Amino acid sequence: MTAEPASFGASMKHGLPNGVMLNAYPDSLDTDLAGTVRMLQRSELRDVFSLFYVLPTFFNSDLDRGFSIIDYNLNADLVSPEDLDALNDLGIMLKFDLVLNHLSVGSPQFQDLVANGDRSEFTDFFIDWNSFWDGSGELHEDGYVVPSPEHLEKLFMRKPGLPILQVRFPDGSDRFYWNTFYQQVDVVDGERTYLGQMDLNARSEQVWDFYHTTLRQLADFGAKILRLDAFAYLHKEIGESNFFNTPGTWQYLDRLRHIAEECGLVLLPEIHSEYGTGLHEELSAQDYPIYDFFFPGLVIDAIDSGTNARLLRWIGEIVEKDLKTVNMLGCHDGVPVIDLRGGGTSQTDGLLANEEIESIIERLLERGGRVKNLYGPDGSKISYYQVNTTFFSALGESEARLRLARAIQLFMPGTPQVWYLDLFAGANDYAAADRGGAGGHKEINRTNLTAQDIDDGLKRSVVQDQLEIMRLRNTSAAFAGELTVLATEPNQLGLRWENGTTTATLMADLAADTFSITHVHDGTETVLTHD
Ligand code: BGC
Repeated sequence: MTAEPASFGASMKHGLPNGVMLNAYPDSLDTDLAGTVRMLQRSELRDVFSLFYVLPTFFNSDLDRGFSIIDYNLNADLVSPEDLDALNDLGIMLKFDLVLNHLSVGSPQFQDLVANGDRSEFTDFFIDWNSFWDGSGELHEDGYVVPSPEHLEKLFMRKPGLPILQVRFPDGSDRFYWNTFYQQVDVVDGERTYLGQMDLNARSEQVWDFYHTTLRQLADFGAKILRLDAFAYLHKEIGESNFFNTPGTWQYLDRLRHIAEECGLVLLPEIHSEYGTGLHEELSAQDYPIYDFFFPGLVIDAIDSGTNARLLRWIGEIVEKDLKTVNMLGCHDGVPVIDLRGGGTSQTDGLLANEEIESIIERLLERGGRVKNLYGPDGSKISYYQVNTTFFSALGESEARLRLARAIQLFMPGTPQVWYLDLFAGANDYAAADRGGAGGHKEINRTNLTAQDIDDGLKRSVVQDQLEIMRLRNTSAAFAGELTVLATEPNQLGLRWENGTTTATLMADLAADTFSITHVHDGTETVLTHD
């Protein structure tokens, strides 16, 4: 089922290109980006994608599979300038991360700090924890400041304990640097080595000069969209939460947007927060596109329960509030669950009730997933966060359900992003998750596929069927038109896109995991049935 010329995918809607977006690491598909390009050049993939979100091992990095960037130069082991030319020839636009909250211990800036200590030109580039909290806490016997309780209670942590990494300066003194995300400290024969994602000090103009240079560099690589990784942690202020405090976070976003516009880039802020806090709407009101981190949980709920109401409520909101979204089934992180909740202490105003969210988590764990939590400063769990699983395993490894989930995603308003492993119906990789340890659960859903896996996969109907619907989504002008939610029974879902005389209609039975798609263009009707 092919529709019009492929150029449709490049048409812009809400500042975002309207086509289908592949999402993968540069080495997820056939060893390196050149291998991925070879796959994309195959006839089976023709006209399927208009965009490619390449994860940050595209750059030089050392931890957290790319999110600990050493520098933003091409990672020559996986990427070459010729690959970028080839993607351009295929008409595929690029999305990259700006990992703006942190840089690796291995970055030239942090290395300079460690080598030159207080004489480094980068003393201000990262956040010296003790200087930051000076006068607002107590010195611990181990040398770091513990913020006073009224400040501490406002901090929320991505790992147990205070977010610091201890660093030895050349004068032999120990210094503590703010480190929100991962770190890895090894002691071999008394010698201490460490890696870590060191938070940047956005109060320093040097950091803003660095952002500016980086955005220009990413635009030169062919970027169109920039994902602002974990941006809500960037603005830090004593007495405020360390997550999306205002107005500082808005000011930083605004400043970044000015730079982005100068470089011809669209910013896509990444934020996981409870639906009930309304932060997604606030971002949208400031005219930022947003991630639809609600859809993955809602589509699992719709398919597991065989009912449409909760998913339809969210679709209605996207349309009514004209939210500009990027949606997905799986991605390099887990299935978002905290996002579905009500705000603060509210039990009722989430997209799902707390019991419904907890029952999704339970089902995903029964199907082999692993839960990731958030922690308070004392190391105690404060909330669940995501469930690490492949989407295929999250759906009970049913091909019919994966096909249906994909069809629904492709009929959702927004730009559909497709995790490569979902396309190939990848199951949980338990051995990889075990090897990754407590911090490495995400490896359950990051299996690299060989050229042979791709060859074999492209022969499977679950892969071919997804590609067929993706090609339709990427090429039919219907999806640049208006969406109508059709009146149906509660167990059905009817979504129709209409643009002039071109229409695309999805009729699904959520309880039976079956659907049909009808496409009409120039008076010609094509029907695709999956029952
Ligand atoms: C990314 C994660 C990463 C974290 C730190 C997140 O939002 O999606 O994969 O670990 O930011 O960079």
